[in-house]
Amino acid sequence: MTPVTTFRGKSVALFGLGGSGLATAKALIAGGAQVLAWDDGEAGRDSARDAGIPVMDLHLADWTKIAALVLSPGVPLTHPAPHWAAGLALLAGVQIIGDIELFCRERANSAPRAPFIAITGTNGKSTTTALIAHLFRTAGFDVQMGGNIGVPILALEPPSANRIHVIECSSFHIDLAPSIDPTVGILTNLTPDHIDRHGSMAQYAAVKEKLIRGAEVALISVDDDYSWAIGQRRNERMPLPGRGAIPISVLRQLDWGVSLDGTRIISKRPSAIGTLLGDIHNVPTLRGLHNAQNAAFAVAAADVWKIDASVIQAGLATFPGLPHRMEDVGRLAHVLFINDSKATNADAAEKALLSFDNIFWIAGGKAKDVGIEPLAHLFPKVRKAYLIGEAAQQFAATLAAHVPYEICGTLEHALASAERDAADLNVVQSVVLLSPACASYDQFRNFEVRGDTFRTLVQALIQRRVSGG
Ligand code: ADP
Repeated sequence: MTPVTTFRGKSVALFGLGGSGLATAKALIAGGAQVLAWDDGEAGRDSARDAGIPVMDLHLADWTKIAALVLSPGVPLTHPAPHWAAGLALLAGVQIIGDIELFCRERANSAPRAPFIAITGTNGKSTTTALIAHLFRTAGFDVQMGGNIGVPILALEPPSANRIHVIECSSFHIDLAPSIDPTVGILTNLTPDHIDRHGSMAQYAAVKEKLIRGAEVALISVDDDYSWAIGQRRNERMPLPGRGAIPISVLRQLDWGVSLDGTRIISKRPSAIGTLLGDIHNVPTLRGLHNAQNAAFAVAAADVWKIDASVIQAGLATFPGLPHRMEDVGRLAHVLFINDSKATNADAAEKALLSFDNIFWIAGGKAKDVGIEPLAHLFPKVRKAYLIGEAAQQFAATLAAHVPYEICGTLEHALASAERDAADLNVVQSVVLLSPACASYDQFRNFEVRGDTFRTLVQALIQRRVSGG
């Protein structure tokens, strides 16, 4: 845990008692603050009471005595409307911050040079974060990974000069972290998302830009217009050598920055023109151009610490990948089984369809507005589709003239049919791909449960086949 000492002896209101809220309350108490915690849900309040955290309805608090409101990132700060707790704080002129801000202040106070990498972007945050953590662990660093991935930031070990924090930040986290100042700030990409919570694309991009503005070294994509513009503004503000944005591209070769040559990630710096940082050829957990982008950022971050290219390569080769993101869950002869349950929309499913051939595609669930129409250009890669859940009829109508399909109802039936057909196809490799392009809520609690179910079903199927069933 990282005790928060910057509010010692002060009263702090805390709203939102999920995992990160509870961890924050404990860190504040450990650092000597008086915490008044609340949540609209009884379950959160009960968890706090069980953990010995003082619970109080913040409607009843004396806001003149409160030094800060700490908000969970899931709670609306501005849009569609400020949550009532934020409204009370605004009315009383009380600062509203989040757990990453508390961490940054603690770092500034106790270990200002402590290495800290902060990763944001619309897509690829978790993969990039996990890969960076893996590369630095491979190089022997003491790595603390968390934030929006896994462990809440204040539940990690405290910042220190000989340990590195690798932290995934959502836009909601950054909105609540006005003084965020990582050693290295990463912006992987920016496309319209979360507009309902930020009001507009411009506001969403402006929030992401804050992380880049505060970073000592900034690694920024130049492959989309929003990220490119943020990089340009950084260059104009910080014209000194080494302080501008380091551009990263997977779409074109750069004269300066980090870009791809096939699967090779090349750094071009004045001191080391054309240095090979790593090669993702034959790294099964980093398939596809989107993962090449994530890998380019990760190796560029490792390069800031001058980690040797041979160590980076060893790290890339052993990256286990993240569950539910094009996760390899088994193979039967020439049939490969891929769990891409995290693909809850067409955009994400596109990445998987681009990455494979001879696809036996399991799709469906709770459909998003656009359905799978934007994927029509990839239908020729699909041998047959196996449709599940509420979206089955809608997807069938889109596929009708282009791809054979079967309405399977459940994941179990879809897998059985897809495996049978994939095994019959006489090719070097066929792929049974769960990449639903849909939310999971109609049949599963969340995408993790859907993916876990698929993995279990695949493993049982392989077991049966191996033992002759
Ligand atoms: P995030 O944490 O930002 O949601 P993840 O690393 O968990 O990102 O990846 C989630 C999904 O987003 C992946 O399954 C893939 O479909 C897509 N994705 C991953 N990396 C990228 C990228 N660099 N660009 C575009 N899409 C990506």
